[in-house]
Order: sequence, then structure tokens, then C-alpha cells
Amino acid sequence: MPDDGRLICAEKVCKTYQTAETPGRLVLDHVDFSLHEGEIVAILGKSGSGKSTFLRVLAGLTPPTEGRVAYRGHTVEGPAHGIAMVFQTFALFPWLTVLGNVELGLEAQGVPRAERRQRALKAIDLIGLDGFESAYPKELSGGMRQRVGFARALVVNPDVLLLDEPFSALDVLTAETLRGDMLDLWLERRVPTKGIILVSHNIEEAVEVADRIIIFGSDPGHIRAEIPVSLPRPRDVTSPRVQQIVDEVYAILTTVPGREPGRRGLRGVETVGVGYRLPAASIQQLVGLLDAISAPPYSGRADLPHLVESEHIEDEALFVLVEALQLLGFAQVAGGDIWATPVGRAFAEADLQTRKQIFADQLRRSIPLAAHIRKVLDERPGHSAPEARFLAELEDHLSEEEAHEVLETMINWGRYAELFAYDYDRGVLSLENPT
Ligand code: ADP
Ligand code: MG
Repeated sequence: MPDDGRLICAEKVCKTYQTAETPGRLVLDHVDFSLHEGEIVAILGKSGSGKSTFLRVLAGLTPPTEGRVAYRGHTVEGPAHGIAMVFQTFALFPWLTVLGNVELGLEAQGVPRAERRQRALKAIDLIGLDGFESAYPKELSGGMRQRVGFARALVVNPDVLLLDEPFSALDVLTAETLRGDMLDLWLERRVPTKGIILVSHNIEEAVEVADRIIIFGSDPGHIRAEIPVSLPRPRDVTSPRVQQIVDEVYAILTTVPGREPGRRGLRGVETVGVGYRLPAASIQQLVGLLDAISAPPYSGRADLPHLVESEHIEDEALFVLVEALQLLGFAQVAGGDIWATPVGRAFAEADLQTRKQIFADQLRRSIPLAAHIRKVLDERPGHSAPEARFLAELEDHLSEEEAHEVLETMINWGRYAELFAYDYDRGVLSLENPT
């Protein structure tokens, strides 16, 4: 691969995770991607869509199962020098000071002691931790600890920075400040870094920061869309041009593939199988959102970014809810708007008992796992089955933990709809009269 201004180049990258019991599970499916010099690329996508795995493959921390990654024209085979990562939370050594924790990154590279100290102090200064060199992690706030994480990455003078949701664990204001500081370092060229990839679940953050946004789709992880953001900086997130792109990204992220308006039932059948990763939406939140959309001021149709702000919902939580409403056929999404379907409206207007009936009908119609569980229970002589049976089926498609999450969501929905009952102590699903 020639060095043509591409810092990182991924060609047809596939990643399969293999465990002892299960056959390999494909997590990344033929991903083609380049990071060009001078670029910040943001990656958005549902939880579990393989974003972290992709960063790890790019950094050489885990090998691709198929395909190739090159860094500055050289195939990556093992941790790539020049690429540094920042994670959501950092494992700082509690017995080391801030300075000690930052120096650690250089020790591994065999940098002499005096130079280590000098460079660590500079990185600490850069990231705004001046005066905290001798503090211990436990004395620092979450935001300060995350700054130590950034300093540890910056101290190696990284050519490329891979940021995996580095602001997600911080409160909104702290995140905003640190993000702004990071962006200033980059724009003022106070760091030698030539390219940044930022995984985020905050759409405004992505549009504010990135030159290009990549949207990952799930199961298996793949690139679903790419949106260039060619707006001048600094960007005012409230400006119409930024909001227009925010709307565009919302529109993609909140549309379940195969469930676009006018296409329901076409690809929907293929994409939502028994092993579909059901979004972990609680009944209370689902009903709450559907009620909110149906009532004034929205009266059936709402602008998603507006809904997020006025209902105080986090982007990520909203995706989960909106996906569930679409899967269940209660709402549709297009162009950054969400509106209730006739079934959704009927549900919102109904009394509790009718709501449960409507919900049960939608589950059987639209959620193959619900229909499957109900069929098994209907057919079994005792009308009951251990949850382990369904978990085993789900584990053909999902990890053990994810299978548990999906079944838990399914059970919550099914119990609300009185489609089946669940005995928590025995771990048994049944058709006993649910209480
Ligand atoms: P994201 O960062 O988008 O949430 P991840 O890359 O963390 O996604 O995970 C993608 C999928 O790969 C998930 O289904 C997850 O359970 C699985 N996965 C991640 N790491 C491992 C691992 N080390 N072994 C097995 N499965 C894994
Ligand atoms: Mg991740």
C-alpha cells in the first residue's frame, strides 16, 4: 500500500470472535476504511456494533481474522508505534502519582528517565493538569482522571489518536470542557498528532468535532453510512447548518434497516430474526415515549433532536427506545422525525387492558423471538419451558451476556403483554395466568 496521505487504511477487515463452546461470531464484516492526514473521523453506531473492536484492530491490539490494516503504508502486525488510544475509563495505578502514571507510557518505550520526566510534565501541562503532578488518582475528580488518561496518550507524541468514547463517562459540562480543550490542542497544532478517530454516542459531539462521520451498523458490524462534515470551525452546535447534519445523522441512526417507511415487511423479515439483538427498552420508557409523541405539543409527530432536548433523553437511550418502537410497529422514523403509526396511536389512546392486548398482538406479529417463545409454550404439554432453552438458541447469534440481556428484555415485554409468564426463582417461562 503506498503512503498517499493515508495514515491508516483498512481493507476488507473481518473479525470473528471464537470461544471454546461456540463457533466463531462475526463482529466485523468486510470493513473498508481510510484515515487521511489532517482528519478527525467520528464513528457512531449502536452498542455492540463492533466500534471498539474496530479501533483495537486498527491499533494492532487484536489481529483481523481476514483483510489487512496498514499504518503509513506498512501492514500492522502487533501494537502499532505511533498510534495511541484513550478509553472511556482509564486504569490508573492508584499507588502512582499523576506524573508517575503519565511517565508509564514512556517507560514501556525505553525512554531515558530525564527525558521521561520532561515529556510527562509537558503533556500534563498541555492537558491542563498543571499543579496536579504529585496528586494521586483518588484525589482527582472523574474529569481530572480522564485528563490523566489523555496525558498518558499524548506523552508518546502519537501520530494517530484513537479515542473510544473518552467523554462518555463524564458529566455533560466536564465532557464539554475536556472535548473543547482537546479540539483546541488539535486545531492550534500544539500536538504532533496527524489524525484522530473518535468513537462517540453523542451525535452533536460528532458533528461538532469531526470532518467525517462514519455510521456503523450491527450484526455483523459494517459501515452503514458516511457523512462528510465540511463546516468551518469553530462550529456553533445551535446553528442551522450544524443542526441540519445532526438531523441527517439522527435520521440514519434511528432508522432500523429494513424498517424504512414503505419498506416494512420487505427486508424486515430477514433483518429481524429470532436472534435479533432486541434493544433493551423498558416498558415504562417505551410507553412514556409513545405517550409523549402522541400528546401535545407533538400530537403524533416529533422532531427527534427536539424530543431529546425537551424530554431530557440521552442520545443512546433514545436510539434504544426509538428502535424498539419501530420494531414493534408503534412508530416510524424518517428525515429526523418520528411519528406514531395507526397502531401506535391506538395504543396511546387505549386503556390498560386494551394496551396489553395491542402490545401482545404486535409482539407476535413483529418480534420473531416472542412468536417463537409463545409457539413453544403453546405446543408443550405442560405449557412451560426453562429459560436455558431459549438462551441456548440466542447464543447461536449473540454472546452469553447479550443473550441474557435480550431474553430479559423479551421477558419484560412478554410479561407486560401477558403473552407468557416467568418464574424468576425457577427460571421458567410458562402460560400460567400471569399475575
Ligand atoms: P461496540 O464498541 O460498538 O459496543 P464491541 O466492539 O465492544 O462493540 O463489541 C462488538 C461485539 O463483539 C459484541 O457482540 C461483543 O459482545 C463482542 N465482543 C467484543 N469483544 C469480545 C471478545 N474479546 N470476545 C468475544 N466477543 C467479544
Ligand atoms: Mg465500545
